[in-house]
Amino acid sequence: MNSSINAPLTIDTIIVGAGVTGLSAGYHLTKQSKRLIILEAAARVGGAVGSITEQGWLRELGPNSLMQTPALADLLSQLDLGTETIEANPVAKKRFISKNEHPVALPGNPLALFTSPLFSLGDLWHLAREPWIKPASFEETIAQFVRRRLGQGFLDWAVDPFVSGIYAGDPDRLSVQAAIPKIYATECESGSLIRAGIARMQAAKANPAPITQPAKGKLFSFKNGLQTLTDALAAAITSSGNGEIHLQTPCSSLVSNTDGGWTIHTAQGKTYTATNLILTVPAAVAAGLLEPTDPTLAEQLNRIEYPPVASVVMGFSRVQVAHPLDGFGLLIPSKEHKQTLGVLFSSTLFADRTPPGKVMLTAFIGGRQKPEAALGTDDEILQRVLNDLSPPLGIKGPPEFLRIQSWPRAIPQYELGYLALLEKIETQAAHWQGLYLAGNWRDGIAVGDCLINGQKLAEQLAKKPS
Ligand SMILES: Cc1cc2nc3c(=O)[nH]c(=O)nc-3n(C[C@H](O)[C@H](O)[C@H](O)COP(=O)(O)OP(=O)(O)OC[C@H]3O[C@@H](n4cnc5c(N)ncnc54)[C@H](O)[C@@H]3O)c2cc1C
Repeated sequence: MNSSINAPLTIDTIIVGAGVTGLSAGYHLTKQSKRLIILEAAARVGGAVGSITEQGWLRELGPNSLMQTPALADLLSQLDLGTETIEANPVAKKRFISKNEHPVALPGNPLALFTSPLFSLGDLWHLAREPWIKPASFEETIAQFVRRRLGQGFLDWAVDPFVSGIYAGDPDRLSVQAAIPKIYATECESGSLIRAGIARMQAAKANPAPITQPAKGKLFSFKNGLQTLTDALAAAITSSGNGEIHLQTPCSSLVSNTDGGWTIHTAQGKTYTATNLILTVPAAVAAGLLEPTDPTLAEQLNRIEYPPVASVVMGFSRVQVAHPLDGFGLLIPSKEHKQTLGVLFSSTLFADRTPPGKVMLTAFIGGRQKPEAALGTDDEILQRVLNDLSPPLGIKGPPEFLRIQSWPRAIPQYELGYLALLEKIETQAAHWQGLYLAGNWRDGIAVGDCLINGQKLAEQLAKKPS
């Protein structure tokens, strides 16, 4: 990937970090003929996105699937990846929640709520009152918001496990405005989540999307895993003739030049200079790099929490797992007092990723509420996961294939006061000409959000007079 282009580069921009955000910004900037270099500490591009095939098992290191959107469909067609995509198995619509160590399917429609063992009559009564509940006048946590609008039962058995599944977070700390802004906006605009949901369903029935439009909301991946996307972005950057990606080249320090622009030093002793510097590294890494230049900015960035998570890929013979694995996976609510956050039925989600007669499960353990569970030896982590998953899934014996990927800083937590903190960071960073801070710690943690944020940043820079 250390491609070089013949003429010496007059660099507009240096991007630090070749995760989804850095690659997206780089791809859209090189399309605008901006010349850039991306410095990446690791030996591969992709950051949290990585796919590895070994002994017939195709596993993901971080994210396992993407949600289709028109913007993503457009990017895939630009990158010529249309024929590489695979849709998730339709049974993945079914999601299980563990209750008293039993997997219970989440109700698939409003009527099924009445017979679901997840919710009591009291829970349904609280839900029925939702359209008349007034918005709050202060910033709430997700737990406060859900308790107020939907009741404790829905918090415990529906929202809490989803918050664990997406953020590995704590609903008692995450800010509803920052972490689930669309739901917060629905309350502000419609006054009721239920009324807005009904209106959306009626509108979709009255105006069905044309069949030529990409299937919005569908989960998908690529035949060779999600890394196909980040590899394709990297290939497009280097083949444009305007961009280079330097792997195993960690940025070790940076200096703001008195005549404008930035000088970047790498751990190998190389020096780069450019007008614009985009940092797409985790907030704590950006803080370390910016500390000598701006200790206030560094202190603000350091306030962002990143709990550890371990991703545990386990391969079993089909007969070792009693559960039919007929769904997306199983989420484990905090009420169950387990250490594992949830498990994906990976071999159900996408076919042909295991040797014949085998199944693959990907469990996630640790997170904001139980960070210590992600730490320890592989044996210790596996034991915790098997203790938690064997009762609900009927797992017998150890996995025959095991790979544990540790993420010491897995997912930034958008906690109470987050939007105010981001505003302070924005104001402080604006003191530095040519400095841009991006990454999954702002404007969404999903891969799709990072792609859009990288693109928006590139559009902003392209408008800047050079
Ligand atoms: C376990 C897990 C599961 C997830 N599941 C999903 C999912 O199912 N769906 C979904 O949409 N999202 C999911 N996400 C979130 C999503 O993958 C991330 O938010 C997104 O990929 C982050 O991209 P990024 O470019 O902002 O950051 P990163 O991917 O963290 O990239 C930052 C890059 O900076 C590099 N770097 C660090 N320090 C330096 C330095 N000093 N110099 C140079 N380079 C440096 C790193 O090596 C890395 O490549 C998951 C994340 C994790 C960890």
